[in-house]
Amino acid sequence: MPFMGRLPAFAALVCACGVVLSGQGAPRQVSLLITGGTVVTVDANRRVIPNGAVAIDGTDILAVDTAEAVGRQFRGTETIDATDQIVLPGLINTHTHAPMVLYRGLADDLALMEWLNRYIFPAEAKTVSPEFVRAGTRLAALEMIQSGTTTFADMYYFEEEVARETKTAGLRGVLGQTIIQFPVPDAKTPAEGLARAEAFIRRFKDDALITPAVAPHAMYTLDGPTLKAARELSRQYGVPTLIHLAETRDEIQAAQERFALSPTAYLESLGFWGPGVLAAHGVWVSESEIALLKQRGVGVSHNPESNMKLASGVAPVTGYLRAGVPTGLGTDGAASNNDMDMFEAMRVASLLHKLQTADPRVLGAATALEMATVGGARALGMDRLIGSLERGKLADVIVVSTTAARQTPMYEPVSHLVYTTRGDDVRHTVVNGRVLMRDRKVLTLDATAVLSEASGWAEKVRAAVK
Ligand SMILES: [Zn+2]
Repeated sequence: MPFMGRLPAFAALVCACGVVLSGQGAPRQVSLLITGGTVVTVDANRRVIPNGAVAIDGTDILAVDTAEAVGRQFRGTETIDATDQIVLPGLINTHTHAPMVLYRGLADDLALMEWLNRYIFPAEAKTVSPEFVRAGTRLAALEMIQSGTTTFADMYYFEEEVARETKTAGLRGVLGQTIIQFPVPDAKTPAEGLARAEAFIRRFKDDALITPAVAPHAMYTLDGPTLKAARELSRQYGVPTLIHLAETRDEIQAAQERFALSPTAYLESLGFWGPGVLAAHGVWVSESEIALLKQRGVGVSHNPESNMKLASGVAPVTGYLRAGVPTGLGTDGAASNNDMDMFEAMRVASLLHKLQTADPRVLGAATALEMATVGGARALGMDRLIGSLERGKLADVIVVSTTAARQTPMYEPVSHLVYTTRGDDVRHTVVNGRVLMRDRKVLTLDATAVLSEASGWAEKVRAAVK
């Protein structure tokens, strides 16, 4: 499994917390207290604490309890007053292509294969460069911080540039260097892509915020030997593998014609599946293949908005959940969504599956919130570190306001988070104990500069695809 290298340090922190909490006397000084809000923990007991608080020191959560209990034990060097707000774990976007925000709205209302082959791949060939990737990642990071995403899983080119900008912005990323069969802006051959991926893993392997990954694009854009080599590379370094799986009917047809197998079965025949693999979409996957993915320890990323916009189909999410496949939510790239708002992803996931199954009890608010937090963490193999607010986990926390007209009155906080809250309602974003946004002001990026730079790139993109 990936992330093993970090676990001993994590275990030590838990021990340290235990010692601290058993002490009596004067309150202990900690770096940050978030106090006074309704704390939705998404812990094992799904605790919701009215007038609760979270104590954070350095990168770690030390306590999650009532404001009174936390106030007795801790004093914050910095304090966030969360009165009339909801405090919850930062949202985890399990599938995106961050720099593609620069293609937002470039080509809408098309099916995946036409969209990719006629617009996206040609636009990428002409415009993707390290500078493009840096500018796109800055814009995506700004949007994610503003809308409460604290961890994202990414698949793109020049992934080292994505990593650098992610670190500067202060976000957590599982970042996969893309490998694809045809020449792409950062690699002329798949062998070159694999070499880039290996260099990328070595460079970021021990980073506190970045988990490097290998991202073979899909079974329909790679040959068997390259798929095997990509998987072997992630096994060798103990890092995750990110891949698109069974996204459209076209992919199913291509796999049938070439191999007389479904994409899931074809990848199984290569020995591809195993723990540490995250499959994005998994729309056209049968009941027996869901059981296979469960057996192999594969995680799934559900991207309802992208699947709906490209009319790819409805993923069998209730089947994944029933089978116990770790399932998270994603936005996919902003070119097929067209934003990165994970609150919207929660709401749409819930509504889509109610409609699909004709059962309003399916994928309720609590399940949608779980998928966007601890479910995503599980799908990425990171649930011991992030995904819920509990002592010993890393401090990835967001605070959302609840006072808009559309949020009034509030009977049930979890319902509110899924059915009425928007990314714009997020007021504070904390990642790894660091406040990235306070009172809607992003502290790690110059928002004005990021937006004007992105508009400058749009001119170049428009010229390139004419
Ligand atoms: Zn994708």
